[in-house]
Amino acid sequence: MGQAGNDLSVKELIVKYPDYPRITIIKLDTAYRGVQVTAAAVAQAEQDGAIFRAPEAKEDDKGEGELVFGGAQFRDGSIVRGLEDSISVKKYHLQRIGNPYTLDIVDGKAWLLDGEKKVEPVFFTPVPQFYGKTTSRGIPMNKVVRGSSNVLGINVYNYCYFWKHKLACQYCGSVQNFTTKNETHTEASLQDIYETVNEALKEQGRWTSFAFIVGSDPQGERPYDREVEEIIKVSRTLQRVFGKRPFPLRLISSAVPQDQLLRYRDAGVTAIEPHLEVWDKQLFNIICPGKAKFFGWDYWVNNAIAGVEVFGRGNVCSQFVCGAELSQPHGFKDEEAALRSNFEGAAFFARHGVTTSANILRLAQGSLFYAQKQKHPSLEYVIRLTKGLHDIRRQYHLGVDCNDFKRCGIHPDTDLARLFNHEVEV
Ligand code: SF4
Repeated sequence: MGQAGNDLSVKELIVKYPDYPRITIIKLDTAYRGVQVTAAAVAQAEQDGAIFRAPEAKEDDKGEGELVFGGAQFRDGSIVRGLEDSISVKKYHLQRIGNPYTLDIVDGKAWLLDGEKKVEPVFFTPVPQFYGKTTSRGIPMNKVVRGSSNVLGINVYNYCYFWKHKLACQYCGSVQNFTTKNETHTEASLQDIYETVNEALKEQGRWTSFAFIVGSDPQGERPYDREVEEIIKVSRTLQRVFGKRPFPLRLISSAVPQDQLLRYRDAGVTAIEPHLEVWDKQLFNIICPGKAKFFGWDYWVNNAIAGVEVFGRGNVCSQFVCGAELSQPHGFKDEEAALRSNFEGAAFFARHGVTTSANILRLAQGSLFYAQKQKHPSLEYVIRLTKGLHDIRRQYHLGVDCNDFKRCGIHPDTDLARLFNHEVEV
């Protein structure tokens, strides 16, 4: 088996870390190397309902208009990464390492292959049943809510002030997503969400939570006021859907003062994620200049901690971008020092009831890191970091319930938490 920028091969890492799930290591490697999908696999995906072709597709539609691929999952339910630029129409490029894997059909079944060698069976993820339907005013529902394997994602505020003002986080390649629109929700757009979520819920047994996607916007009389108001509008809409029934609503957004968090809670939010991204203060200032300016490392840390009083232990999460702290020339020069810094941050947060997860660094076109040709950290570094974060959470009896859904993302430590919690062996 090949490797992705590390000294040890995937095979060697699987032997060296026997308590780290083999499938999670392979998943990480697919993220780094990418996966090519053969024509036979595309045909099978189509047959399995994993491909959606929008009837209203336009040539200039760079989003989900023309074709949506539901993706594929391993047998532990986690997502096969590295498919982002495989058959998608999105013009989105990620820097890959080494030779890509192949997703092909062997003896009638879908397999992840490394060269000719079968690595793991995979299963296509059907696109949501509400795709292809429209709201009462004719808006395609797949444009209103995004359904991944198990989460309904709602674009709440497609605008990041940091991108617009050249203060973007250095690893962020979301320029197209967060600079094109600066629109606030109207009664009509909220009704679209209401109708789409109602339709999505007809697909019973699939969805485990909602995730809000929100760009950072510090504008307003109080910090991030504008963003707060949009979040509340959309969460109130979900309350309209569910009535008095509780529902899991996880919010990735900016850090806001506690009285605003109380408003979130009243509007149905159950967990918040004001991501710090980088623990080391000096590196945070360099890598996240927008967050540093509005309103600094202490502000983001203190407001995360204040969130625990509102949402409870384990329902506030700060994410680290695993590998950003190794970017050069300012980042850590050796991985041991970088690990120490991350663990110090995770333990600090854990003492205050804030859980920490790690999203692995992806070098996406459009980001400063991509232009600078930064490197991915080694797979072994990712394994050690995510295992360490998992151990800290266990030490402090912190779960990641609010993040368990991340089997759809690249959060290997939350995979560990899920597997540990359910005592699944893979
Ligand atoms: S990662 Fe940073 S720059 Fe990118 S959308 Fe989020 S806050 Fe804005």
